[in-house]
Order: sequence, then C-alpha cells, then structure tokens
Amino acid sequence: MKTRSFDVVVAGGGPAGVAAAVSASRSGARVLLVEREAGLGGNVRAAKVHSICGLYRCGAGPGAEPLQTGLAMEFARRLVASGGACGPRRFGRLDVLLQEPEAFAHLCEDWVTEAKTIEVMRNARVTGGEVEGRRVKSLHLTTQAGRVTIEAAAFVEATGDGNLAAAVSLSAESALRQELQRPAYIFGLQPVASAALAPAARLAWSALLVAAVRDGRLGAGALGAAVRPTCRDGMVRVTLDLAAGGGDYDPCDEVQVRRLTVEARESAEMLTDFLRREAAGFEKAEGCSWPERIGIRESRRVMGRHVITANEVLSGVVPEDTVCFSFWPLEWHEAGAAMRLVYPDNGAACGVPLRALRSQDADNVFLAGRCFSATHEAQAALRVIGTSMATGQAAGQAAACLSRGVVVDAGAIREACAR
Ligand SMILES: Cc1cc2nc3c(=O)[nH]c(=O)nc-3n(C[C@H](O)[C@H](O)[C@H](O)COP(=O)(O)OP(=O)(O)OC[C@H]3O[C@@H](n4cnc5c(N)ncnc54)[C@H](O)[C@@H]3O)c2cc1C
Repeated sequence: MKTRSFDVVVAGGGPAGVAAAVSASRSGARVLLVEREAGLGGNVRAAKVHSICGLYRCGAGPGAEPLQTGLAMEFARRLVASGGACGPRRFGRLDVLLQEPEAFAHLCEDWVTEAKTIEVMRNARVTGGEVEGRRVKSLHLTTQAGRVTIEAAAFVEATGDGNLAAAVSLSAESALRQELQRPAYIFGLQPVASAALAPAARLAWSALLVAAVRDGRLGAGALGAAVRPTCRDGMVRVTLDLAAGGGDYDPCDEVQVRRLTVEARESAEMLTDFLRREAAGFEKAEGCSWPERIGIRESRRVMGRHVITANEVLSGVVPEDTVCFSFWPLEWHEAGAAMRLVYPDNGAACGVPLRALRSQDADNVFLAGRCFSATHEAQAALRVIGTSMATGQAAGQAAACLSRGVVVDAGAIREACAR
C-alpha cells in the first residue's frame, strides 16, 4: 500500500473542512484535503443549502452587525463580490446571506487552489487508520486507484458525520434515531412571480397545501414546505423536511440516504405539479437545481475535551479558552413537528472553547463543523455554516501549530482567527 506524508490532513471538504485547509495552509502547513465526493462544498454543493447563517449577531438595530471575522467573512465578501450571494437579508431577528450553492462550491475550489500548499484528493474516503497511544499516526483512504496510507502530524475531523472518528474509534455520540434532526430535500423552481412570496399569497397557497395533504393528493411532507427567495430573479428554492424520523432513520447508512433521495425527488415533482396547477404565481414553474442527495443536519457528534451544552449557547457563555464565536438560535426540525427556534437570552453570542475542538482521545485530532463537540441540543444552533467555517479556521490553525511543534494556545488562535 502507498504511504504519503503531510503536515496536516483535513478529512471532509465541506464549509468547515475547506476553511480548515485554507487556515492551515496560510499558517505554513503542507495540507492534504480528503473529500469522498468529486467536488468541494459539502451540504451546500450536494444538498443545495442556500443561505449562510451564523455570520451576524442577533438583529436588533436596522443593519446586520457582523459577528464572524477571519475566513468566514473573507469568503462571504468574495461570494457577494462574485455575484454568488446577496444580502444580508433580515428574517425576523436573524440576518442571513442568501447564496447560490453552485457559486459557493466554485469559490471553495478557487480558495483551495489559491492556497498553493493544499493538495485535494477527491473521490477518496477515510475508512480506517492507525492509532499509537493518544495519537493518530495515519489514516487509510479508499480511492479509485486503491488504498493509500497518509501520515501526518495533525488531523482535522470535518466530515460532518464524524467518519474520521468512527474510522479510528474515537469517542462519538449520536442522538436516538427518532430524536435526530430531520433531513431535508431542497430544490429550485422557476419562474415564480415575486408576488407569490408576499404574505397574503403565502397564506393562500399554504391553505391549498393543507387541503391537498388532508385529502391525500400530496404527502405529509408538503405541509412544512419552506419557499424562499434566491439571488436570481424569478427563482425560489423549496425545502421539504422529510418524515424520515422514527426508529429507522440512519444518516450514516448510504443505501438509506439514496432511497430517501429518490423518494423525496418524487414528492418534489408532485408538489411542483400541484403548485403549477393550483397556486397563483407558480403557473409556469419548472423544477431546477436538483440536489445530488438529501441534506443531513445531524448524525455523529465527536466528543472533545469539553462538550458545549444548550445552556451555554442560550446564556452566551464565553469560556477563557474561546477561539471563535457562534450566534444562532437552537433550530429544531423534529419528527412530526413544525420547525421552531429557541433564541439565546438577549440575543447573546457564545464562545467556542478550544477544548470543544480537540478530541477527547487523540491529542493530534481537531474537530470542526457540524460534528464538533456539542450536545444534541447545542448542535441545533452550532451546525450553521458561519460557525462551521469559524471552527474550521480555528481547528486548521491549531493543527498547523501542532505540526510545527508550537504550543497550541487558545489566545494565539483566537487572535489569528480574528484577522
Ligand atoms: C436541509 C439543510 C438546510 C440547512 N440550512 C442551512 C442554512 O440555511 N444556513 C446555514 O448556515 N446552514 C444550514 N444548514 C447546515 C449546514 O449546511 C451544515 O451544517 C454545514 O454544511 C456543515 O458543514 P460541514 O463542513 O461541517 O459538513 P458538511 O457540509 O456535511 O461537509 C462534510 C464533507 O465531508 C465529506 N465526507 C464525509 N465523510 C467523509 C469521509 N469518510 N472521507 C472523506 N470525506 C468525507 C462529505 O462528502 C462532505 O463534503 C442546513 C443543513 C441542512 C441539511
């Protein structure tokens, strides 16, 4: 089996992994970014997630007030400048940046290419590894060309699903299957008249959907369909939360994910036909921008030296070893219930301590993105893209320090991530 060596290996090329790789590279590390799919962008690219949450503080005044600094904001600014994002837009007390998933994925590729010291291995998945005491020595990758062993001084777990942790048996947790956040299917529709998104029009077509579900013309999933504007005139994106809850749902079972994707596409096509026939403003709408797969909100969470709780998120706790910040309400997509938000007290941001980004079991594994160390409840807020990129930057910085033999100091990482 071939063996190669890098300073830092980042597993997972979603928002967190891309930020981690760029961060480690800019700190001077030779980085390998491993992605199981053909392209970068994670849930954004494959599942068409189309807004960046967690970039701004809780909306109190008239304008959006940035919370994030560093790479998350650099990425957001570039996306806006390229025409791939618009906003921020205010929804209730929340400011979000609307973005086009294709542009997001494109910028991920550019960002990583510009970094010069990042090699990307695509269609390659972390499937195993070797551990020596409290260190991961190497990872085994399964690629089209066969198995490869990769050694590194430090690793970043950014697979979203905790797959690196599972491959080398690091501690991880998962909520009960019936309690996991529901997955969703996101697709585009165009052309749709802008008047169809006005409050009175929304009420009218929502009532039509309720009636159609009641008399069996549409499945229950249509009830919670969220229809949101995009940066493109005449195009909307529809999010269908899937009734995949219950005892069987396993987000790490790829056969099941594929089956749910096929079923969800059928529901999406039925909904599109229904809206075209019955709802004002949708008469000419066609489905577009179909996702490769359903979006996974929650699966494994990897245990760090600290596990962030919902109470810490809601009270805006800022521990001494904070390396970055998060603001977003707990956002619940539960089986059999409508989406609900639970806001932090006074709209406060909380701190993410370095301990929550460091594996409990392995001293050279750092955690980033939606699988970093938090409880099921806290993950409901911490999983958003702004926070994922901020934790990615911090984890990448920490991994680069370790690979140089420099003490991993929270204060220095926080300062570097603020620039
Ligand atoms: C339906 C839905 C709607 C959402 N809406 C929003 C929203 O509006 N705004 C917002 O900010 N956030 C939203 N989110 C949350 C957000 O998309 C994710 O939490 C975010 O993508 C997390 O980034 P990540 O990099 O941690 O994980 P992911 O985006 O999941 O990326 C992980 C990457 O790791 C790769 N990978 C996995 N296993 C392996 C392996 N073994 N080897 C190699 N690579 C591997 C995957 O292919 C993937 O590319 C939504 C999520 C969903 C599912």
